[in-house]
Amino acid sequence: MAEIKCIGILTSGGDAPGMNAAIRAVTRAGICSGFSVKGIYRGYRGLITDEIVDFKTQNVSNIIQTGGTILKTARCKEFTTPEGRQLAYDVLKREGIDALVVIGGDGSLTGARIFANEFNFPIVGLPGTIDNDLYGTDKTIGYDTALNTIMQCVDKIRDTATSHERLFFIEVMGRDAGFLALNGAIASGAEAAIIPEISTEVDQLAELVKNGFRKSKNSSIVLVAESPITGGAMGLAERVKNEFPQYDVRVTILGHLQRGGSPTAVDRILASRMGAAAIDALLEDQRNVMIGITNDEIVYVPFSKAIKNDKPINRDLLNTLRRLSI
Ligand code: ADP
Repeated sequence: MAEIKCIGILTSGGDAPGMNAAIRAVTRAGICSGFSVKGIYRGYRGLITDEIVDFKTQNVSNIIQTGGTILKTARCKEFTTPEGRQLAYDVLKREGIDALVVIGGDGSLTGARIFANEFNFPIVGLPGTIDNDLYGTDKTIGYDTALNTIMQCVDKIRDTATSHERLFFIEVMGRDAGFLALNGAIASGAEAAIIPEISTEVDQLAELVKNGFRKSKNSSIVLVAESPITGGAMGLAERVKNEFPQYDVRVTILGHLQRGGSPTAVDRILASRMGAAAIDALLEDQRNVMIGITNDEIVYVPFSKAIKNDKPINRDLLNTLRRLSI
């Protein structure tokens, strides 16, 4: 295995709070271990267009508390082509970068895996996505912050929902995964969560809604994952309005609010541990792995597993939500 002297770091795909804490950890742990570190701006696009700068410890000062990513992020079609990836490889060689740390979601790690195999290039991935949909880690960087944001928003909406005795459908992110909707619902005391993993028929929904209004509460809140499988909050609200015109239905789509904000302590610690572990992985000659944390232990998850396997939702959580919203 060729010796690694210089490590490049990039953030790619959807941004997530805690990415900066991860950039800081990779940079500082890397420098501590005697590597030089280079920051690659705008994900794979900046890799192809050579937007790369030397990173010293001071480049990552005062960022652990900030949302977004100081390296910026982008989506890059060119990188999905062999020609684009060849350009990226040429830039890495020219810059003297011997290994990459890629922070991103499912798509970014898919790209990393293809590139690593194509050029036999050492890459370690960090799971950076608010959706928590990467297999092999209990939590992804950004998920806890997004969950807290959702909880705070639902608390506010509850005030108005209760005052007007309304039924609210609140749409949260998670195209393929219901983690945010389900745990957001539990954390905010919502009546139900509609998630892509579990099909919900109109009559079940009606039952949920009726139950919501039957009890002592005089408002009802349903969290809906944005997925086409659920139909989104708009789609569900339309269905309910048609069948139950007696309810005063409202929709709120939280949208990009969920991506922003200062990361929680949980996300800062997760990102810091994972970033430092990425350097350990490279020192141990690990390649093509994503860093995960399960049961509070660092684990190395082969890209093939992290990307291909669907992370299952814990069905006990659904049961808990149902029992607590009677
Ligand atoms: P996320 O990482 O948040 O899931 P995307 O799915 O948009 O975000 O992926 C980010 C980038 O990763 C894409 O713009 C592309 O450059 C790269 N990528 C995604 N899928 C592939 C693929 N199959 N082959 C090569 N690169 C990919």
